[in-house]
Amino acid sequence: MSDPAPVGVDSDWLDRKLERLDSITLGSSAASVGRVEQIGDGIATVSGLPEAKLGEVLTFENDVSGFVLSLDRATMSVVLLDEGVNVGAGSSVTASGHVLHVPVGPELLGRVVDPLGRPLDRDEAIAASQFEPIERPAPAIIERDLVSEPMETGVLVVDSLFALGRGQRELIVGDRATGKTSIAVEAMINQKSTDVVCVYVAVGQRATAVDRVIEAVQAHGAPERCIFVVAQAASAPGLQWMAPFAGFTMAEYFRDRGQDALIIVDDLSKHAATHRELALLTNEPPGREAYPGDIFYLHARLLERAARLSPERGGGSLTALPIAETDAANLSAYIPTNLISITDGQIVLSADLFAANQRPAVDVGLSVSRVGGKAQKKALRDVSGRVRLDYSQFLELEMFTRFGGLSDTRVKAQIARGQRIRALLTQPRFASLRLVDQVALLAGLGEGLLDPLPIAAINALRRSLPSFLDAHAGEAVSRVTTSGLLDDECRAAFLAAVRELCARLTGTAPSEGGTP
Ligand code: ATP
Ligand code: MG
Repeated sequence: MSDPAPVGVDSDWLDRKLERLDSITLGSSAASVGRVEQIGDGIATVSGLPEAKLGEVLTFENDVSGFVLSLDRATMSVVLLDEGVNVGAGSSVTASGHVLHVPVGPELLGRVVDPLGRPLDRDEAIAASQFEPIERPAPAIIERDLVSEPMETGVLVVDSLFALGRGQRELIVGDRATGKTSIAVEAMINQKSTDVVCVYVAVGQRATAVDRVIEAVQAHGAPERCIFVVAQAASAPGLQWMAPFAGFTMAEYFRDRGQDALIIVDDLSKHAATHRELALLTNEPPGREAYPGDIFYLHARLLERAARLSPERGGGSLTALPIAETDAANLSAYIPTNLISITDGQIVLSADLFAANQRPAVDVGLSVSRVGGKAQKKALRDVSGRVRLDYSQFLELEMFTRFGGLSDTRVKAQIARGQRIRALLTQPRFASLRLVDQVALLAGLGEGLLDPLPIAAINALRRSLPSFLDAHAGEAVSRVTTSGLLDDECRAAFLAAVRELCARLTGTAPSEGGTP
């Protein structure tokens, strides 16, 4: 059909002409093929693809994929997600039309996967039927509820002094090798007796460290309710960058279905370093401490996704325990301060305490939990209130009396009490304490029952108490466990059991069948 040339301006004619021109010159296939201009350090500079979006997945030759990290006028920077790439300048690139997404669902439980959801544990593929984007909006305020249920870790110092609630974000921060991962893993293992789903995200960790975590959970926890998302130090920077986001998306699946989930990100300092590396390679201008200005926003929008949802949204929760590493205990460095301001509190681990064999090496002066206290079970809150005060007073007194002799008997008693608190808070790994054990120990401590006990016997007391309580105060154990309250009767039963056990440990009471 011939198209008569218009005499005046005819917009319909112009539109028709342009449409035809589009289909001839660009065509749908031509518009979605780009070209690699430059490649190196895990980043490809790509031209063409005018429709590509930020975060969109692009596919290179040889099945290599990457995602768009930044867009320039004529080119874009693409972060590659695969190692050992056989792609060079001039190769073609196609746009997928979708942003990065990962498989979600119960099929992932018990598995070790990379941040794209590809299995790392065995050859069996993840048969997930659902995929979700790695970046999802955080729940709005109206969709949230107050944090009201405890997330018990089984670690006495955390549960009694810095209680966590389901839906809280608590930073675990400390120098290298101060037990940061161990505390988070204890929290994961303690979920064996609950129905919380755990997601452990490893970013930039050594393979041996990741293996140790997985082995610990397999040996002591409930691995069938855990997902391990692993991007090791040797993985492509793109995988390390997306790992925390992928982990959150996998955990949110459970949160959005009314379940409770716990996510551990080990660690965000390494994630920040990867982000800095990628940002500098893509020529983003560096900001404070060479981090581009948006690292704060990146971590904030990640951690905002942890929440307790309102009953209308199913009432699920996602608790986040991000980990950060400090240099020489410098909490005021850029990344730790960012994370401290994003989270609802921090558990600070001290290298000095760790070296002095106080493990977990929690610095009680610098640590805080801002929302979990309200979620703490009343039975534990009632008995732990005094401990914090007694312990802080003891730490000050200890400093003053270090060089001089002790004069006052009251001071001596305070110091003796403090030493016992310290011994109690020192807890070996894989020795989780239940709520009732913690309540009984602290009630006994408050009553002064532990004061005559030699400090060396405190460890034995903590170890023997759970089975002793079950045997001698079984009814109180089940009542306190179900109600979360400590009435006078249960309190008396617990105190009697602790008194009896202390007497046996000091040898002032005959023991049944040898030492406990
Ligand atoms: P990194 O900086 O390398 O990630 P980290 O801070 O995560 O280290 P961990 O790997 O958790 O520290 O722990 C360091 C060492 O301390 C491990 O060998 C661990 O077994 C030991 N450790 C941690 N917690 C305790 C504890 N409560 N009792 C005894 N040993 C502990
Ligand atoms: Mg660690």
